[in-house]
Amino acid sequence: MKSSRRDFLKIAGVSALGLSAGTLGFLGEGAQAADALPTAQDFAKPSNAKQWGMVIDTAKLDDATMKKCIDACHATHNVPKIEGKQEIKWLWTDDFHATFPTEFPTYLSDDLHHRKFLLLCNHCANPACVRVCPTKATFKNNEGLVIMDYHRCIGCRYCMAGCPYGARSFNFRDPEKFIANMNPLYPHRTRGVVEKCTFCVEKLAQGKLPLCVEASGGAMVFGDLEDPKSPVRQILKDKYAVRRNPAAGTEPSVFYIL
Ligand code: SF4
Ligand code: SF4
Repeated sequence: MKSSRRDFLKIAGVSALGLSAGTLGFLGEGAQAADALPTAQDFAKPSNAKQWGMVIDTAKLDDATMKKCIDACHATHNVPKIEGKQEIKWLWTDDFHATFPTEFPTYLSDDLHHRKFLLLCNHCANPACVRVCPTKATFKNNEGLVIMDYHRCIGCRYCMAGCPYGARSFNFRDPEKFIANMNPLYPHRTRGVVEKCTFCVEKLAQGKLPLCVEASGGAMVFGDLEDPKSPVRQILKDKYAVRRNPAAGTEPSVFYIL
């Protein structure tokens, strides 16, 4: 089923939410739909958060729970299922060495050696992808989210080269053919554009948590990193957590408790 941007806005009750079409412009149909291009200023400010962030307690996540998180994200956001090098992924798993390529522990525990880690866009405070995008199709909003305006993406993939975490995927092919059960409430992307995790900006705009956090059974915690009282800051006060490749200088907003 093909859902148009107009249909989505109708179904989502955008006016009832008090959001402009521009607010949800990141859900647009891609570079081919050039009408009503939203600008960064069009994005509303649905909360007072300054830098949304996430803490993942990796020991609490088993394979089944991580699959639940990935399925919830990918099914809702119409992430196409493509095998091999052209895979599109918003949320995925990998091992310790791929997750933390700059860590070289002399003796890695068996537990960490066998553990899988959930990976996603880090919504970096200093995002390399934003700096290199020539059209400002990717930008940081006033809540610290790094989001995409698919209308502006010209498919140059500079952002993919700039991201040190492999968090972005490119639609080499028409993704519609690889979406088994299309969610009519969330328009899919098109061939020739880049996509990635949005920190569920559409859920945050409704005052809800990201889908993966909800599916994680408490292993993932979300909140404003700039608010000392937020759940993420409360956890980081008690537990030591690491970020992926901190030497890259991007200041990731996703923290991992090992
Ligand atoms: S993880 Fe990559 S894509 Fe996400 S904000 Fe950081 S640099 Fe950009
Ligand atoms: S925050 Fe939302 S978009 Fe990002 S990985 Fe989790 S469920 Fe997917």
